[in-house]
Amino acid sequence: MLTGACLCGQLRYEAGGTPFHLTNCHCATCRRSSGAPFVAWFSVPRADFRFVQGTPARFNSSEHGTRSFCPQCGSPLTFESSRAPGEIDVTTCTLDDPESLPPEDHTWVRSRLRWVHLDDGLPAYEQARSTG
Ligand SMILES: [Zn+2]
Ligand SMILES: [Zn+2]
Repeated sequence: MLTGACLCGQLRYEAGGTPFHLTNCHCATCRRSSGAPFVAWFSVPRADFRFVQGTPARFNSSEHGTRSFCPQCGSPLTFESSRAPGEIDVTTCTLDDPESLPPEDHTWVRSRLRWVHLDDGLPAYEQARSTG
């Protein structure tokens, strides 16, 4: 079982299942919503994710996407897309042990900031990993 929390600790979550799509996302939406140059995410089946403490605030970040975050400290926590209703993306760095799920690729690198230099040898995709 993966466990995580926001910065202030008001929100805690648990995620089961087998994590997939471990990625560093360089899209402009992740960047602005986090204030960071890119955001590490993992995905799990939506049925295997739950908040066990606190209630997040939600925000429609695009036509198909909804992001949740802590209403008190602002930590970005999840991303859900109506295009992939069976899964939920979770910010890797809100895990209690972010070392346990290292990213396996980079996505949306066409939006990568020029001062971010990638030399970790991971695959890098111009947009999403696959179209759809
Ligand atoms: Zn918080
Ligand atoms: Zn993104």
